[in-house]
Amino acid sequence: MILDNIKIIRENIKNACEKVGRNPDEVTLIAVSKTKPYTAIQEALPSGILDYGENKVQELSEKYEILPDDIRWHMIGHLQRNKVKYLVGKTTLIHSVDSLRLANQIESEFAKKDQIADILIEVNMADEESKFGVSADETINLIKEISLLPHVHVQGLMTIAPYTDNPETNREYFTKMKKLSVDIREKNIDNVNMDVLSMGMSGDYQVAIEEGATMVRVGTSIFGERNYNI
Ligand SMILES: *Cc1c(COP(=O)(O)O)cnc(C)c1O
Repeated sequence: MILDNIKIIRENIKNACEKVGRNPDEVTLIAVSKTKPYTAIQEALPSGILDYGENKVQELSEKYEILPDDIRWHMIGHLQRNKVKYLVGKTTLIHSVDSLRLANQIESEFAKKDQIADILIEVNMADEESKFGVSADETINLIKEISLLPHVHVQGLMTIAPYTDNPETNREYFTKMKKLSVDIREKNIDNVNMDVLSMGMSGDYQVAIEEGATMVRVGTSIFGERNYNI
C-alpha cells in the first residue's frame, strides 16, 4: 500500500510540474514518517525514497540507529535548544529554525564536532498564532544575523501552510514564499543560499509545486493517518 501511494504521489508531482513547465527532478519528495514505526520506512525504501522527515529528535535518533546509513533525515518539527546536540551528525537538513537563539545553539553544538548544519528558516507566512516560525517581515533580518555563524548554512525557506480542505486557499501563501525567497536571493548575503523552498504537505503539495516548492513534505498520503493516542 505504501509503495502504491508513493507511485500516485510521484505521478501527481510530475503532473504539477508539467502544468507549469518545471522539471520533476527539481522537486524532492520527503516522506514524513513521524509517529510511524521504522518498519513503515523499510516498506517505503524499495521506492527509492531516501529522504524522511521527523518532528521529534528522540524518534529521529531511534530510527537513525536502526535504519540504513544512506537515509537523509530531515528535522521538520519545532526544535528545542536542549535537543540540538543529539542531532549533530544525524540530520541532513533542519527545516524549522525560527530564532537567533536556536541558531546560536546549533552553531555551538555543530562547531564542537567540527560540522556544518544546513538549515532552513521557518516562516509563518499566514501569521497563524498557533504556529511557530518567524514573520515574513522579520525573515531577512534573522537571515542576516544567522549568516554570520560559520557552522550554520542557510539553504532556503520552509513554511507550514494553514490546514485546509481546499488547497487553492493556500496558493497565496506559497506565492508569497516564492517571492520572499527571490527577494532574499537578490540581496546576495554571504554564506546564504536560497535554493530550497520546503512547502506543501498531503493536502496541498501540488499547488505548492506549481508555485515553486523544491521540497514537499508528505506524510498521511504515504503512510496513512497518524494515531497520536498510542
Ligand atoms: C506532519 C508534518 C507534515 C506532513 O503532513 P501530512 O499532512 O501528513 O502530509 C509536513 N510538514 C510538517 C512540518 C509536519 O509536521
